[in-house]
Amino acid sequence: SVLIAGSANLDFVVRASHVPAPGETVLGRELATFPGGKGANQAIACARAGGAATRMLLALGDDAYAAPIEASLRDAGVELQLIRCPDHATGTAFICVSDDGENAITVAPGANAALRADDLPALDGVGHLLLQLETPLPAIEAWARRARAAGVVVVLNAAPARALPASLLDCVDLLIVNEGELAALSGIADDIDAALARIPSARVVVTLGARGCRARVDGRFLTQAAFPIQALDTTAAGDTFCGTLVAALAQGDDFAAALRRASAASALACTRAGGQTSVPTRDEVERLLAA
Ligand code: ADP
Repeated sequence: SVLIAGSANLDFVVRASHVPAPGETVLGRELATFPGGKGANQAIACARAGGAATRMLLALGDDAYAAPIEASLRDAGVELQLIRCPDHATGTAFICVSDDGENAITVAPGANAALRADDLPALDGVGHLLLQLETPLPAIEAWARRARAAGVVVVLNAAPARALPASLLDCVDLLIVNEGELAALSGIADDIDAALARIPSARVVVTLGARGCRARVDGRFLTQAAFPIQALDTTAAGDTFCGTLVAALAQGDDFAAALRRASAASALACTRAGGQTSVPTRDEVERLLAA
C-alpha cells in the first residue's frame, strides 16, 4: 500500500478585479471553498489512480473546516490516519485571484504544523511513503528515516521549495521536483541533466510543465513528453503527477510506464478547473493512454 504523510487545508478563494496592495481593501465576488493542501491532493490522486490501497496521515482541527477535507479524501477512497488537534485550527489558505490571473496566497498551517515524528503509524504492508514539505521538517525527516530503515520506498516531493538538510535527502529513494525546486536544490539553473546529476537520490524526476518531464533513474536519463491538451487550470497538476506516479510504481509499473501514466493524469487535471475535483479517474487515464 501507499502511505501519504502531509498537509491538508481548506482553500478560501475569492476572485476580484485585482489583488489588494498593502493597506488596500478590494471588494471581491462570491467566496468559494475547496479542500486542498499538497498532501491531501496527492493522496486523492494516488487513490483515484487505483492499483494500490492509499492511506494518509494528516492533522485537522476540531472545527467546521475539517469536515469537507475528510469527506473529499474518503469519497476518493483514501483511508485516514487522522490526528485530531483541538488546540489548533484546521489548515487554511486564503487565495485572492485577480481577473488577469495573478494571485496572492496566505496559508495558515494550523494543525498541519502540529504533526510530529511519532505520529507516523506502523508501516506494516506499506511499500511506498510519499512526503511533501508543508509539514514540519523535523517530522518529515524522522518519518523518512523510519521508513527507509523499514525497507519502505521513500518518495519526497520537495515542494514548496526550501533548503533541505543532506540528512533528509540521504533517506530519499525518489525525489520529485519542478524546475524551480530543482534549481533551488541543485544550485544549477541552466542545465537540467547537470542539475539532476547533482541530486544524491538514486531516482529524480523533474516536471517541466507543458514540456513534460525528465528523470534520472539509477544512472539512466529518461524523457516523457507532455500529453497535448488545452490547459484550462494547472492547479494540482504537480500533485496529480506525484500521486499517480507513486500509485503506478506501487502497482509494479516500470519507471517509464509510471512516468507516462503520471503525465496522462496530470495533463487531464490541467483540462479542468479546481484542485482535487480536477484529478481524473483511472478509467479516464486508461482512455488517454490507449488513444
Ligand atoms: P508544478 O505545477 O508542480 O510546477 P508542472 O507545471 O511541471 O508542475 O506540471 C506537472 C506535470 O503536469 C507536467 O510534468 C506535465 O506532465 C503536466 N502538465 C503541466 N502543464 C501541462 C500542459 N500545459 N499540458 C500538458 N501537461 C501538462
